[in-house]
Amino acid sequence: MHSAVISLASGYGYFPTPTVAVEAATRLIQGGQLSVSPIEGLPALREALASTYRRSSGYGVSPQQVVVTPGGKAALFALFKTLLRPGDEVLVPTPVWFGFKSLIEQAGGNMRPLPLNSTDDYALTPAAVKAAIGPRTRILLFSNPNNPTGRIYKHAEVEAILDVTRQHPNLMVISDEIYDLVSFSTEPVPSLLEFADPHAQHVVVNGFSKSLALVGWGVGYLVAPTAVAQVCAAWQFSTAAAVPTPNQHAALAVTKASASITRELLAQLATTRNILLDGLADLPNVHCHIPEGTYYAFPDFTAYLTPRIDPIIASASLVTRLRKAGVDVVDGASCGAPGFVRLSYAVPEEALREALRRIRKALASAPVF
Ligand code: PMP
Repeated sequence: MHSAVISLASGYGYFPTPTVAVEAATRLIQGGQLSVSPIEGLPALREALASTYRRSSGYGVSPQQVVVTPGGKAALFALFKTLLRPGDEVLVPTPVWFGFKSLIEQAGGNMRPLPLNSTDDYALTPAAVKAAIGPRTRILLFSNPNNPTGRIYKHAEVEAILDVTRQHPNLMVISDEIYDLVSFSTEPVPSLLEFADPHAQHVVVNGFSKSLALVGWGVGYLVAPTAVAQVCAAWQFSTAAAVPTPNQHAALAVTKASASITRELLAQLATTRNILLDGLADLPNVHCHIPEGTYYAFPDFTAYLTPRIDPIIASASLVTRLRKAGVDVVDGASCGAPGFVRLSYAVPEEALREALRRIRKALASAPVF
């Protein structure tokens, strides 16, 4: 009998709120009555975010392109509601974060998966994108770094894809960069805003709950061509409220302190990343693509799936087996890859070691097919 179930399934780290954020928000709250933010977000935050991208991109990014939203999910939903007509398709390379599908469907669109392969390092080729774009495809959406695989699409790879999308000026390209600063690569994660955008197609979604440790504060944003940003803001005005000002001040504080917050976060994550990758390398018949970004690994457990039954059902039963052994994981089937599991290493060291012991034991008692 094991003690409480250990969760490696959460998308959020266990990091404490950075002190600068606590101080900034507290100062505002203690100052008396709060004002209501403009629906697009506080001018100082929009300016700080635009200038972050201006520094890295070399292209002009104006504060008018930035809309602050109640989390990254809200940014995606505002974009889908703004850009999709009923029945439009969003082309999404998979495996990918399970949240995209329901957001797209709730907005009246259809997700069209473009399945990629772990065996060729999840290569996303221009030819595959070109072949997958159909008459109803309105958006190409990808996550970079990718949740759940941890794959980072490098500058040259993104450029090659954009050579294709520029041939389709009515297609929008959305890059979800919410894990942009959680990277163990020696090369920087390219932002979509670094690339020439002659047809105003490029949109970035980002947030503060992952890379900048503002877990639970509900702040995200989008950066879009100004006309799109304005419609998203109007949609937010009619359906929701601006992010509360203390949370936006916290976001501004972590934006200014991003270098030191990220340094600390990565130092902490480097240890648990090694523990997880070493532990997975030790499991028989398990293969794992080495994740360069995010705080997930996405190992292939298909050797442990019961053969000749529906892979979705077999994948769910593998996840149940792990849960019975005391570890919660995300079923890869929900990300488009049955038989894979998403494991977070943004957890305390001891919990991760114990979770790995339990997984090893559960698999040892399972047949290999
Ligand atoms: N995009 C991706 C790729 C994510 O993994 C998540 C959170 N799991 C989100 C967006 C949503 O982030 P938020 O908490 O800011 O709504």
